[in-house]
Amino acid sequence: MKIGVQLPDGLKRRAFEICEELGSDVILSGESCFGACDIDLALLEDVDVLYHYAHSEILKFDNVVYVPYFVGFDLQKVAESINNVPEREIALIATLQYCHNLPELKGLLESSGFRVELKKGSERVKFPGQVLGCNYSALRDCKASAVVFLGDGLFHALGASFYTNKKVYAVNPINSELTLVNSKDFIKNRYLQVSKCVGLKKVGILVSTKPGQKRLKLAEKMKKLALDRGMKALIVYLNDITPEKLLNLPFDFYVNTACPRISYDDYRRFEKPIITPPEFEYLLNLREEIGLDEIE
Ligand code: SF4
Repeated sequence: MKIGVQLPDGLKRRAFEICEELGSDVILSGESCFGACDIDLALLEDVDVLYHYAHSEILKFDNVVYVPYFVGFDLQKVAESINNVPEREIALIATLQYCHNLPELKGLLESSGFRVELKKGSERVKFPGQVLGCNYSALRDCKASAVVFLGDGLFHALGASFYTNKKVYAVNPINSELTLVNSKDFIKNRYLQVSKCVGLKKVGILVSTKPGQKRLKLAEKMKKLALDRGMKALIVYLNDITPEKLLNLPFDFYVNTACPRISYDDYRRFEKPIITPPEFEYLLNLREEIGLDEIE
Protein backbone atom coordinates (compact mmCIF):
# COMPACT_ATOMS: atom_id res chain seq x y z
CA MET A 1 0.00 0.00 0.00
CA LYS A 2 1.37 3.40 -0.98
CA ILE A 3 1.18 5.88 1.90
CA GLY A 4 1.37 9.68 1.75
CA VAL A 5 2.40 11.74 4.75
CA GLN A 6 1.65 15.41 5.36
CA LEU A 7 3.36 17.13 8.29
CA PRO A 8 3.06 20.72 9.55
CA ASP A 9 6.30 22.71 9.68
CA GLY A 10 6.82 21.96 13.38
CA LEU A 11 6.95 18.20 12.68
CA LYS A 12 8.76 18.18 9.31
CA ARG A 13 12.14 17.72 11.00
CA ARG A 14 10.87 14.43 12.43
CA ALA A 15 9.94 13.16 8.95
CA PHE A 16 12.31 10.13 9.02
CA GLU A 17 11.09 8.97 12.41
CA ILE A 18 7.41 9.29 11.41
CA CYS A 19 7.66 7.92 7.86
CA GLU A 20 9.89 4.95 8.72
CA GLU A 21 7.32 3.74 11.23
CA LEU A 22 4.78 3.55 8.41
CA GLY A 23 6.85 1.22 6.19
CA SER A 24 8.93 1.65 3.06
CA ASP A 25 6.36 2.71 0.48
CA VAL A 26 5.89 6.22 1.85
CA ILE A 27 5.90 9.57 0.05
CA LEU A 28 6.36 12.71 2.14
CA SER A 29 4.56 15.88 1.07
CA GLY A 30 6.95 18.83 0.78
CA GLU A 31 4.07 21.28 0.46
CA SER A 32 2.64 23.53 3.15
CA CYS A 33 0.44 21.96 5.80
CA PHE A 34 -1.12 24.89 7.64
CA GLY A 35 -4.21 23.07 8.85
CA ALA A 36 -6.68 20.33 7.97
CA CYS A 37 -7.90 22.84 5.39
CA ASP A 38 -4.65 22.23 3.54
CA ILE A 39 -4.80 18.68 2.12
CA ASP A 40 -2.13 17.89 -0.49
CA LEU A 41 -4.55 16.94 -3.28
CA ALA A 42 -1.80 16.10 -5.80
CA LEU A 43 -0.19 13.61 -3.41
CA LEU A 44 -3.60 12.24 -2.45
CA GLU A 45 -4.17 11.25 -6.10
CA ASP A 46 -1.00 9.15 -6.16
CA VAL A 47 -1.30 7.22 -2.89
CA ASP A 48 -3.77 4.73 -1.37
CA VAL A 49 -3.97 6.59 1.92
CA LEU A 50 -2.76 10.00 3.12
CA TYR A 51 -1.82 10.46 6.77
CA HIS A 52 -2.36 14.11 7.68
CA TYR A 53 -0.71 14.94 11.01
CA ALA A 54 -1.49 17.34 13.83
CA HIS A 55 -4.88 18.61 12.68
CA SER A 56 -8.43 17.37 13.18
CA GLU A 57 -10.77 16.65 10.28
CA ILE A 58 -12.41 19.57 8.52
CA LEU A 59 -13.37 17.85 5.26
CA LYS A 60 -14.14 14.18 4.83
CA PHE A 61 -12.00 12.32 2.28
CA ASP A 62 -12.31 8.51 2.07
CA ASN A 63 -8.55 7.99 1.99
CA VAL A 64 -7.30 10.68 4.39
CA VAL A 65 -6.51 9.71 7.97
CA TYR A 66 -6.14 12.62 10.41
CA VAL A 67 -3.57 11.94 13.12
CA PRO A 68 -4.00 14.36 16.03
CA TYR A 69 -0.92 15.49 17.93
CA PHE A 70 -1.60 16.18 21.59
CA VAL A 71 0.97 17.82 23.85
CA GLY A 72 1.05 16.94 27.54
CA PHE A 73 1.26 19.64 30.22
CA ASP A 74 1.10 20.04 33.97
CA LEU A 75 -2.63 20.42 34.68
CA GLN A 76 -2.17 21.39 38.33
CA LYS A 77 0.22 24.21 37.48
CA VAL A 78 -2.06 25.51 34.73
CA ALA A 79 -5.07 25.37 37.11
CA GLU A 80 -3.06 27.30 39.75
CA SER A 81 -2.21 29.92 37.17
CA ILE A 82 -5.86 30.27 36.10
CA ASN A 83 -6.75 30.72 39.79
CA ASN A 84 -5.29 34.23 39.44
CA VAL A 85 -8.10 35.19 37.04
CA PRO A 86 -10.44 37.47 39.01
CA GLU A 87 -13.59 36.49 37.05
CA ARG A 88 -15.17 33.30 38.41
CA GLU A 89 -17.28 32.48 35.36
CA ILE A 90 -14.99 31.53 32.53
CA ALA A 91 -15.12 29.82 29.12
CA LEU A 92 -12.25 27.46 28.29
CA ILE A 93 -10.79 27.20 24.78
CA ALA A 94 -7.59 25.76 23.30
CA THR A 95 -5.85 24.84 20.10
CA LEU A 96 -6.01 21.16 19.13
CA GLN A 97 -2.70 20.17 20.81
CA TYR A 98 -4.08 20.99 24.26
CA CYS A 99 -7.81 20.19 23.88
CA HIS A 100 -7.60 16.64 25.24
CA ASN A 101 -7.08 17.88 28.81
CA LEU A 102 -9.78 20.54 28.87
CA PRO A 103 -12.51 18.34 30.49
CA GLU A 104 -10.13 17.42 33.34
CA LEU A 105 -9.02 21.03 33.72
CA LYS A 106 -12.67 22.10 33.86
CA GLY A 107 -13.22 19.66 36.78
CA LEU A 108 -10.17 21.01 38.65
CA LEU A 109 -11.26 24.61 38.19
CA GLU A 110 -14.85 23.88 39.24
CA SER A 111 -13.61 22.25 42.43
CA SER A 112 -11.85 25.51 43.24
CA GLY A 113 -14.98 27.61 42.75
CA PHE A 114 -15.11 28.52 39.05
CA ARG A 115 -18.13 28.08 36.82
CA VAL A 116 -16.66 26.80 33.57
CA GLU A 117 -18.16 26.79 30.08
CA LEU A 118 -16.64 24.19 27.78
CA LYS A 119 -18.55 23.85 24.52
CA LYS A 120 -17.93 22.21 21.18
CA GLY A 121 -18.33 24.54 18.23
CA SER A 122 -19.40 23.90 14.62
CA GLU A 123 -18.53 20.93 12.36
CA ARG A 124 -15.20 22.56 11.51
CA VAL A 125 -13.86 21.67 14.98
CA LYS A 126 -13.90 18.24 16.65
CA PHE A 127 -13.32 18.72 20.39
CA PRO A 128 -15.04 20.73 23.13
CA GLY A 129 -13.27 24.05 23.49
CA GLN A 130 -11.27 23.66 20.28
CA VAL A 131 -10.74 26.85 18.27
CA LEU A 132 -9.03 27.53 14.96
CA GLY A 133 -7.65 30.82 13.68
CA CYS A 134 -10.68 30.85 11.37
CA ASN A 135 -13.29 29.47 13.76
CA TYR A 136 -14.33 30.50 17.27
CA SER A 137 -17.75 28.83 17.24
CA ALA A 138 -16.91 27.14 20.59
CA LEU A 139 -17.55 30.62 22.05
CA ARG A 140 -20.88 31.18 20.32
CA ASP A 141 -23.45 32.60 22.80
CA CYS A 142 -20.77 32.54 25.50
CA LYS A 143 -22.32 33.44 28.87
CA ALA A 144 -19.08 33.53 30.86
CA SER A 145 -17.61 36.87 31.93
CA ALA A 146 -14.12 36.01 30.68
CA VAL A 147 -12.41 33.54 28.35
CA VAL A 148 -9.29 31.50 29.15
CA PHE A 149 -7.28 30.30 26.15
CA LEU A 150 -4.67 27.53 26.37
CA GLY A 151 -2.07 27.53 23.64
CA ASP A 152 1.14 28.99 22.26
CA GLY A 153 1.27 32.63 21.21
CA LEU A 154 -1.50 35.21 21.33
CA PHE A 155 -3.08 34.94 17.87
CA HIS A 156 -6.05 32.76 18.86
CA ALA A 157 -6.52 34.69 22.10
CA LEU A 158 -6.74 37.93 20.11
CA GLY A 159 -9.30 36.31 17.83
CA ALA A 160 -11.33 35.17 20.83
CA SER A 161 -11.29 38.69 22.24
CA PHE A 162 -12.37 40.14 18.89
CA TYR A 163 -15.10 37.48 18.57
CA THR A 164 -16.60 37.79 22.07
CA ASN A 165 -15.68 41.32 23.10
CA LYS A 166 -14.89 39.84 26.52
CA LYS A 167 -11.74 39.79 28.62
CA VAL A 168 -9.46 37.00 27.38
CA TYR A 169 -6.57 35.46 29.31
CA ALA A 170 -3.97 33.37 27.50
CA VAL A 171 -2.16 30.59 29.36
CA ASN A 172 0.90 28.97 27.87
CA PRO A 173 0.46 25.33 28.99
CA ILE A 174 4.18 24.65 28.87
CA ASN A 175 5.31 27.31 31.38
CA SER A 176 1.83 28.14 32.82
CA GLU A 177 2.37 31.85 32.15
CA LEU A 178 -0.88 33.84 32.24
CA THR A 179 -1.35 36.97 30.06
CA LEU A 180 -4.31 39.32 29.83
CA VAL A 181 -4.84 39.89 26.12
CA ASN A 182 -5.34 43.34 24.69
CA SER A 183 -6.98 43.25 21.25
CA LYS A 184 -7.39 47.04 20.94
CA ASP A 185 -4.19 47.55 18.93
CA PHE A 186 -5.00 44.59 16.69
CA ILE A 187 -8.46 45.98 15.90
CA LYS A 188 -7.14 49.52 15.45
CA ASN A 189 -4.62 48.20 12.98
CA ARG A 190 -7.32 46.39 11.01
CA TYR A 191 -9.18 49.70 10.61
CA LEU A 192 -5.89 51.23 9.47
CA GLN A 193 -5.45 48.53 6.81
CA VAL A 194 -8.99 49.18 5.54
CA SER A 195 -8.38 52.93 5.45
CA LYS A 196 -5.44 52.31 3.07
CA CYS A 197 -7.94 50.94 0.52
CA VAL A 198 -10.15 54.04 0.43
CA GLY A 199 -10.36 55.37 -3.14
CA LEU A 200 -8.50 52.41 -4.70
CA LYS A 201 -10.17 51.02 -7.81
CA LYS A 202 -8.51 47.75 -8.88
CA VAL A 203 -9.17 44.84 -6.56
CA GLY A 204 -7.92 41.24 -6.71
CA ILE A 205 -10.23 38.78 -4.97
CA LEU A 206 -8.00 35.96 -3.75
CA VAL A 207 -9.27 32.37 -3.62
CA SER A 208 -7.12 29.54 -2.29
CA THR A 209 -7.35 26.14 -3.97
CA LYS A 210 -6.72 24.47 -0.60
CA PRO A 211 -9.94 22.46 -0.13
CA GLY A 212 -10.80 23.73 3.36
CA GLN A 213 -10.08 27.38 2.53
CA LYS A 214 -11.72 27.65 -0.86
CA ARG A 215 -14.62 30.12 -0.74
CA LEU A 216 -15.42 30.74 -4.40
CA LYS A 217 -19.05 31.74 -3.78
CA LEU A 218 -17.94 34.36 -1.28
CA ALA A 219 -15.33 35.60 -3.79
CA GLU A 220 -18.02 35.90 -6.46
CA LYS A 221 -20.15 37.91 -4.04
CA MET A 222 -17.17 40.22 -3.29
CA LYS A 223 -16.49 40.64 -7.01
CA LYS A 224 -20.10 41.63 -7.68
CA LEU A 225 -19.99 44.17 -4.83
CA ALA A 226 -16.83 45.67 -6.33
CA LEU A 227 -18.24 45.83 -9.86
CA ASP A 228 -21.48 47.39 -8.58
CA ARG A 229 -19.34 50.18 -7.08
CA GLY A 230 -17.59 50.84 -10.38
CA MET A 231 -14.33 49.13 -9.37
CA LYS A 232 -12.33 46.82 -11.60
CA ALA A 233 -12.19 43.33 -10.08
CA LEU A 234 -10.86 39.87 -10.90
CA ILE A 235 -10.94 36.61 -8.97
CA VAL A 236 -7.44 35.14 -8.61
CA TYR A 237 -6.82 31.44 -7.82
CA LEU A 238 -3.72 30.47 -5.83
CA ASN A 239 -2.68 27.60 -3.59
CA ASP A 240 -0.32 29.25 -1.10
CA ILE A 241 -0.94 33.00 -1.07
CA THR A 242 2.50 34.60 -0.88
CA PRO A 243 3.77 38.12 -1.65
CA GLU A 244 5.97 36.75 -4.49
CA LYS A 245 2.98 35.33 -6.35
CA LEU A 246 1.21 38.70 -6.28
CA LEU A 247 4.20 40.76 -7.44
CA ASN A 248 3.28 41.07 -11.13
CA LEU A 249 -0.47 41.39 -10.71
CA PRO A 250 -2.08 44.74 -11.58
CA PHE A 251 -4.16 45.30 -8.44
CA ASP A 252 -4.24 48.20 -5.95
CA PHE A 253 -5.39 45.95 -3.09
CA TYR A 254 -6.67 42.48 -2.32
CA VAL A 255 -9.66 40.89 -0.66
CA ASN A 256 -8.48 37.61 0.81
CA THR A 257 -11.20 34.94 1.00
CA ALA A 258 -8.70 32.23 2.08
CA CYS A 259 -7.23 31.70 5.56
CA PRO A 260 -7.86 34.89 7.58
CA ARG A 261 -4.39 34.54 9.17
CA ILE A 262 -2.93 35.74 5.86
CA SER A 263 -4.61 39.12 6.38
CA TYR A 264 -4.35 39.25 10.17
CA ASP A 265 -0.85 37.85 10.73
CA ASP A 266 1.08 38.13 7.46
CA TYR A 267 -0.19 41.44 6.03
CA ARG A 268 3.15 43.22 6.66
CA ARG A 269 4.84 40.93 4.12
CA PHE A 270 2.55 42.09 1.31
CA GLU A 271 3.24 45.18 -0.78
CA LYS A 272 -0.48 46.04 -1.16
CA PRO A 273 -3.25 46.03 1.46
CA ILE A 274 -4.83 42.60 1.89
CA ILE A 275 -8.13 42.84 3.71
CA THR A 276 -10.81 40.29 4.68
CA PRO A 277 -14.33 40.02 3.18
CA PRO A 278 -16.03 41.63 6.24
CA GLU A 279 -13.48 44.46 6.04
CA PHE A 280 -14.25 44.93 2.34
CA GLU A 281 -17.96 45.18 3.19
CA TYR A 282 -17.08 47.78 5.83
CA LEU A 283 -15.05 49.69 3.22
CA LEU A 284 -18.14 49.74 0.99
CA ASN A 285 -20.31 50.99 3.88
CA LEU A 286 -22.23 47.72 3.98
CA ARG A 287 -21.54 47.05 7.67
CA GLU A 288 -20.89 49.19 10.72
CA GLU A 289 -17.90 47.29 12.11
CA ILE A 290 -15.08 45.36 10.48
CA GLY A 291 -15.99 42.07 12.21
CA LEU A 292 -13.89 38.90 12.47
CA ASP A 293 -13.55 36.76 9.35
CA GLU A 294 -14.68 33.21 10.16
CA ILE A 295 -14.89 30.07 8.05
CA GLU A 296 -17.73 27.73 8.97
S1 SF4 B 1 -8.07 28.32 7.25
FE1 SF4 B 1 -6.25 29.04 8.36
S2 SF4 B 1 -6.88 29.21 10.49
FE2 SF4 B 1 -8.39 27.92 9.43
S3 SF4 B 1 -7.72 25.80 9.73
FE3 SF4 B 1 -6.83 26.52 7.80
S4 SF4 B 1 -4.80 27.33 8.34
FE4 SF4 B 1 -6.00 27.17 10.25
